[in-house]
Parts: sequence; C-alpha cells; structure tokens
Amino acid sequence: MILRMSSLFLRTLREDPADAEVPSHRLLVRAGYIRRAAPGIYTWLPLGLKVLRNVETIVREEMDAIGAQELTFPALLPREPYEATGRWTEYGPNLFRLTDRKGADYLLGPTHEEMFTLVVKDLYSSYKDLPLSIYQIQNKYRDEARPRAGVLRGREFVMKDSYSFDIDQDGLQASYDLHRQAYINIFNRLGFEYVIVKAMSGAMGGSASEEFLAIAENGEDTFVRSPGGYAANVEAVVVPQAAPVDASGVPAAEVVDTPDTPTIDTLVDALNAKHARADRPWTAADTLKNVLVMLVHPDGKREPLAIGVPGDRAIDEKRLGAQVEPAEVVPFEEADFAKNPALAKGYIGPGVLGKDNTSGIRYLLDPRIAEGSAWVTGADKTGFHVINLVYGRDFTADGTIQAAEVRDGDEAPDGSGPLSSARGIEMGHIFQLGKKYAEALDLKVLDQNGKLVTVTMGSYGVGVTRAVAAIAEGNHDEFGLVWPREIAPADVHLVATGKDAEVFEKAAAIAAELEARGLTVLYDDREKVSPGVKFKDAELIGVPTIAVVGKGLTDGVIEVKDRRSGERSNVPVADLVDHLL
Ligand code: ATP
Ligand code: MG
Ligand code: MG
Ligand code: MG
Repeated sequence: MILRMSSLFLRTLREDPADAEVPSHRLLVRAGYIRRAAPGIYTWLPLGLKVLRNVETIVREEMDAIGAQELTFPALLPREPYEATGRWTEYGPNLFRLTDRKGADYLLGPTHEEMFTLVVKDLYSSYKDLPLSIYQIQNKYRDEARPRAGVLRGREFVMKDSYSFDIDQDGLQASYDLHRQAYINIFNRLGFEYVIVKAMSGAMGGSASEEFLAIAENGEDTFVRSPGGYAANVEAVVVPQAAPVDASGVPAAEVVDTPDTPTIDTLVDALNAKHARADRPWTAADTLKNVLVMLVHPDGKREPLAIGVPGDRAIDEKRLGAQVEPAEVVPFEEADFAKNPALAKGYIGPGVLGKDNTSGIRYLLDPRIAEGSAWVTGADKTGFHVINLVYGRDFTADGTIQAAEVRDGDEAPDGSGPLSSARGIEMGHIFQLGKKYAEALDLKVLDQNGKLVTVTMGSYGVGVTRAVAAIAEGNHDEFGLVWPREIAPADVHLVATGKDAEVFEKAAAIAAELEARGLTVLYDDREKVSPGVKFKDAELIGVPTIAVVGKGLTDGVIEVKDRRSGERSNVPVADLVDHLL
C-alpha cells in the first residue's frame, strides 16, 4: 500500500496542543494521528487508525492462538442484566445511561460480563460445550471522572475483552493461565517494558486477579516489587507490619486479612487482635454501645447501617429487604465530617471508601469514642480490611482513600526481600471471576452426572486505544514518535526531495516496487514542500525507516535513516528494496 502525502488526510502541527499534559498526547495530536471530538473522546485519523489496527491485529492473533473466538456485541445495552448483577447501581456516575423513546433504560457498555454470560446461557447447556473463551474488540464507554492524557484515559475507548467459561475451578485456572500467556505474548510484541502485578478485583468482584502494567513515570498506578519476584499494585498489597504510630498518636492504616463478609463478630475479632485492651476484651455489646450505628430488623437482629454515595443505599435496601427500619441513614456525601465531627465518630458505611467504590459492602467503625484510637473498615477487596483508617488522614469525605501505606524498604509479604515502588500504566487485567455473574444471571449447565452446576468464569481485558498511547509514551524523542516496526503506520517513509522530475519518477518507482513486495510506504511526494519540512514531518510521524530520494541519486544512492538510532547509510539504488525488506 502507498500512502501519498500529497493527498493523505493529514495535517501535522508545529505547536503542541494546549491541553496536552504528556508526550504521547502531544505527539499523537501533532503528528496527525488523533483529534479531540469532546473531552475524553477522540477521532482516529488515517495514520492513527493504521496504528490502532496494528495493535488490534496483534491482540487478535494472540487471542485466536489460544482458541478464543471473536464475536461482537452492541455497545448499547439494556438495563435489566446490569440490574440483575447490581452493576447498574454500583457503577454509579461512571455509567453512561440513556432512555429510549418508550422510556426504557439503556446503558453504553463499560464492560460486558453480563452480555457474555447471557449469550452463553442462551446457547449452551452442557459441560460438553465447555471450556469456552470468547472475545470482542469493541468500544467501551465510561464517564471517567478525570479523562486524561488523550486516549490514555478516554471516555470512549477500545478494549479487547474476553470471557472464559468452565465447569470447575481447575478449568478456570487453565483458561486463566492460557490468557495470561497470551497477554505476555501480546505485551512482548507491543514492545512494552511491563510488570505483572497482583491486583485488586475492583468492580468485577472476583478473586484472583493480575494486572499488566507498562512501566511509566507518569502512570496512574503505583506498584511495588521485591528482588525475589513479588510484585503487586499498592492497592493490593497486604503488608504485615506492626502499625506504626504517627505524630497524632494514631497508628497508620494497614490492611489485614479478615473473613469475607464482615459481621459485628469479625469486626470485634479484628479489634481484639489488633487493639487488645489491657482491662477487658472488646465485645459486641461495647461496639454496639459506643461505635456502630445499626439497622434493626423486626426480629431484633442488628445490621450495620449503610451510608454511601448515591446508589449504595439502593444496594443496601436490596440486600436487606424492605423489612428493615433504616434509622438515621445519612448518605455519605451529606455526611459533612468537617462541620459535624460527631459523624466522624459513629459511622460505619459501605462502598465509599475504596477506589471504584464497587466491590461490595464495606464497613467502617470507629472505636475512638471508647478507646481514642483506630478505625476499622473493609478494604476494597473481598476478604481484606483496612484497619486504623483515620478520616482526614487516610480518606476524605468524597470517599477517596489513600491506599494502606506501603513504604519503600518494607519487607515483601512473601518474605522475598525489601519492596521498592514505581509507577505504571494499566494495560491489561485478568480476573478469575468465579461464579458471581453466572449466579446472578443463572448460567448453569448439566455436568457429567446430569446435575445442574453453575458455570465458573474469567474475564480478561486489554486497553487497545490505551496501548497506542502507552507505546507512544515509551517510544519518542525530542523530534517526534519512534514506532516499533510492528506498530508503525508504514514500513518505510519515502521522501522525495528537490524539484527534479527524475527524483519523483525514481521515488514513485521505488514506492511501487516496495508496495509490490508487500510493504506499506508512506511516500512524501509533495512538490512544493521544502526538504526541511519533509524531514521534520518524517521525524514527527515516526515511521522506523526513512529513505530519502534526492541529491544522492546522481551518485546512484539513496540515503536510508534509522529513525530510532539516527544512523544513516547510503544504499545503492539497485539494492534499496532488498535493503528495506
Ligand atoms: P483504570 O484502573 O486505569 O481505570 P480499570 O481497572 O478501570 O482501568 P478494567 O476494567 O480492568 O480497567 O478494563 C480493562 C482494561 O481497559 C484496562 O486494563 C485498561 O487497559 C483499559 N481501560 C480501562 N479504562 C480505560 C479508559 N478510560 N481509557 C482507555 N483504556 C481504559
Ligand atoms: Mg477504571
Ligand atoms: Mg485499574
Ligand atoms: Mg483493571
């Protein structure tokens, strides 16, 4: 294929766009790959689309190689399945919601667990049909609070999402391992320097989960790793440490492993384990009296009171049913801790204290009234809880939580040496979902004994548009982009310079020959543009090989420049095509 610069739909810019904070954003806009349509929403221009397609191809090839099958879902989805799994509510303001002319609710899919679960339920009924992995490469929609850095964090973005379906945990483990290897292949081919870290499962509500982070100074994720191979997103680190005491005398927040759903008893156990009192142990009675605000069931059973961001109340009502008497429910956003310090003392609440705010009910209790010290809360991960969380220091009224502190030099939880931290961009995420979605949507198949069993699932995502930005982030210099060969919009950037008709004829012939040999040629055939401008554009656009047809022609040579190393060589015209292949 030949892309002729004289007619290519492209305008390069000499100036950086005003809103661009990071190099990849600046350069993708300046080199004519993307244009902003709205905040966090981008148009892919011809060169950009080529790069995007190249990334998609790599992802597709590696997914196909593990036997995953491609299909595609609509982005416009009905509310009901997301209602059934609770995510219509849990996604909160991140979800783009729409209403059709009849008043029915729809959403733009932020991820498609529900739809994949339902289509398998629709078509499959036996263990013999499993295992199954299916995927799509498709636009996703999330109304991100802070769209950022061009396509790095968009509100519309392309994701490859796949889902595995297995009859049991062993099957899920095998599907997960296959995906993990496919992701290693994908990120190797994309040319990333990356690390695989333990992750929290966030909105997915799963258990085992890992992220692939491209190592990048301006990444939004922080991870820690040890010389012995431990690596985790700081959000997921469980560092056993004696809680250090800060200047205010309150121990620092830390994450502890506690049973799945915290009950008053487990909270009391946590208190006794971590904040043993000299005189007498904590009991449910004194937490009731001093600490917790409770919902009281008609049968006298007490449940911790829900407070939360919009939506959480609905979850809680759903969970607890209409029989509860929700005394003194205060939505978290109305709980002005600064104005009303009493609130900061007595409250427990779900949801709001974690990143994403979606992994289920979490509880917060403050025994300071009695003891003057600590908070206990559920962390954003099933089965883990943060203790010693202090309002103002560790979290704020908008629900932002500072991750439990992990310090450089802390021993890794597995004893594999001291931790050091760095930043990264989340490129991919793999989850063992388990049965959460299958249960919510009733996906069952008959097993070998003719018994109905709930299918167990995994879900696996790659940020395709984000990958383009992350690759650009790691592959540029002061002059422009420097694409890895497999990603570049063309194989060769052929520049014809001067005014000589002969030069243009020769260049056109070379372009045709390269095309015939299967290469994509970006051919700068513009007649009234100076060589200086052409060279600048070539550097900015970042095709890995630049071939200049010009003055050298009288000596029978063409100058070939390697964009990355800057190395130049004069190649005899007759050898050029072979040289470039
Ligand atoms: P993040 O932590 O960056 O918000 P996430 O954990 O919400 O990402 P997942 O739900 O795990 O994202 O989605 C799978 C992949 O989709 C991510 O690993 C990431 O590469 C990509 N992705 C997620 N959100 C965006 C976005 N707003 N723009 C571009 N890519 C995204
Ligand atoms: Mg997110
Ligand atoms: Mg994430
Ligand atoms: Mg993720």
